Amino acid sequence: MNTMKRRNVIGLGGAAVAMVAGAGVAEAAARPTAAQLKDMVPSLSKASVGYRDIPWDGRVCGACVWFKPPDAGSTVSHCHLVAGPISAGGWCQAWMKRG
Ligand code: SF4
Repeated sequence: MNTMKRRNVIGLGGAAVAMVAGAGVAEAAARPTAAQLKDMVPSLSKASVGYRDIPWDGRVCGACVWFKPPDAGSTVSHCHLVAGPISAGGWCQAWMKRG
């Protein structure tokens, strides 16, 4: 990954986490474009965003803008921000409603 792409990924991830920490104002945040999502490499640890395999307040990974559904032939979901496999029924502090 070149330096520019890495900076973009870190910027988007940091923004998402900061919004959550800032009193739940994620709804007002700019959503990533499909092109931005395509170039992102998950870099946040599950621990850093409080990821868990269960929903919170009706919010689930499957309804999050950062969610990556399983590839064809797979049942494993991923995230554009958080590294490693996740559950579609999970949740973390970087959750942002898919628009
Ligand atoms: S809620 Fe789930 S899909 Fe959304 S950022 Fe967190 S781990 Fe990723």
